[in-house]
Amino acid sequence: MIPYGRQDISEEDIQAVVDVLRSDFLTQGPAVPKFEQAVCDYTGAKFGIAVNSATSALHIACESLGLKKGDWLWTTPITFVASANCGLYCGAQVDFVDIDPVTWNLSPQKLEEKLIVAKSNNKLPKVVVVVHLCGLPCDMKEIYQLSQEYGFHIIEDASHAIGGKYYDEPIGNCRYSDITVFSFHPVKTMTTGEGGMAVTNQKELAEKMQLLRSHGVTRDPQKMTHEPDGAWYYQQITLGYNYRMTDLQAALGLSQLQRLDEFVARRHQLADIYDNALSELPVNLPIRSEEKYSGLHLYVIRLQLEKIEKQHSDIFDFLRKENIGVNLHYIPVHTQPYYEKMGFQSGDFPQAETYYQEAISLPMFPTMTASQQEKVISILKEALA
Ligand SMILES: *Cc1c(COP(=O)(O)O)cnc(C)c1O
Repeated sequence: MIPYGRQDISEEDIQAVVDVLRSDFLTQGPAVPKFEQAVCDYTGAKFGIAVNSATSALHIACESLGLKKGDWLWTTPITFVASANCGLYCGAQVDFVDIDPVTWNLSPQKLEEKLIVAKSNNKLPKVVVVVHLCGLPCDMKEIYQLSQEYGFHIIEDASHAIGGKYYDEPIGNCRYSDITVFSFHPVKTMTTGEGGMAVTNQKELAEKMQLLRSHGVTRDPQKMTHEPDGAWYYQQITLGYNYRMTDLQAALGLSQLQRLDEFVARRHQLADIYDNALSELPVNLPIRSEEKYSGLHLYVIRLQLEKIEKQHSDIFDFLRKENIGVNLHYIPVHTQPYYEKMGFQSGDFPQAETYYQEAISLPMFPTMTASQQEKVISILKEALA
């Protein structure tokens, strides 16, 4: 099976992890702060908080922004469930904003329409989580403008988008958001095995997230209620979690980061080949744009079903049967049984639901060979014939 995504681990990556194994600290050592600084240097953000997953990063991001019971979090239905679940962890209610039919990202027009209604109902969101689907940056200027007008916070779920650029600036610089979150799961653009990071330019949010990452415990005398009892002393000043990243993971991340630009460039090469080879087929291809330089975590095509005599699932099954590891990103979150129990139903977000009926993620990863890609292309052509 040619997988839809796969990590690329070099001998240097392996050596970096082995070096940590031979060192004094497997966790809470020097590699984590080094990795955080390296991601800050890369993105231009001021503070980085490394954690054990993007899911954890989304949770502490929401909590640091004060999201709680009685508040609303809005996100896109076309995302992994984690982008919405983080609101529920904080006791907030979740709602969705339909996608744009061309970019497949959260639609700024739909957002504005929904904000106007929410304002009159006194139900404005406290947090909007935008997701750079497949790595394509969202319309951040428009969304930021709305955040200023309606007073909500923005979290960028950039799990797909590390290495991408928005108007020539790195995703993660938080110019148009409070916090940006990355995932380093092995299918993503760079990996730490499991892992994630939240970056921000706001010191107060960074300090809150640092506390929440590790039990709500501080060793900073300035934050304590009284002078330390002694050199051993720490205080728990809020309720936190154990969301820490290990030094093994951070060392792998540091090493992978050296090749991030290479990974993204290779993904663009592969995407160029797909763009050319598939341009005549009855499929819609992902947007490619200078101003929105995609991290290209995924290469998703949308079937023009009115021009094809087969069903979406037939094409999907045909590819799988031929050992092409296609996938579908994503099932609209509001149609998940857990969300349907909250009252959401099919028909609520029509653009997202149409996307779901048409989308297929084709294999794309840096070590993909030319012959693997040719195979994907020829079997897809056969499937659509
Ligand atoms: C992968 C992913 C997550 C979750 O990342 P983990 O690191 O596995 O927790 C969240 N949001 C999106 C959009 C993702 O693709």
